[in-house]
Amino acid sequence: MLLIRCPHCGQRPETEFHCGGEAHIARPHAPAEMGDAAWAEFLYYRTNPRGPHAERWLHGHGCGRWFNALRDTVSDRIIETYEMGAPRPVPATA
Ligand SMILES: [Zn+2]
Repeated sequence: MLLIRCPHCGQRPETEFHCGGEAHIARPHAPAEMGDAAWAEFLYYRTNPRGPHAERWLHGHGCGRWFNALRDTVSDRIIETYEMGAPRPVPATA
């Protein structure tokens, strides 16, 4: 079973977690002033990188808190987890 390190609880089984999509997406400051295309891009368009990807995760069956994880989309390995609000870590190059 895959273990994920919650920044608040430590390592826990993956079944306690839910992925919440891409991390570090800032809500626009004035959405009413945006055009439809820009609003649609904010709502629906996400990156789909091959390699490290920053994601939001919820420890739903644990502390109930959100955190971010840097996951390698090729190997499905979670490189690092960090608290919400912290900057995205730079992964070490292989
Ligand atoms: Zn937790």
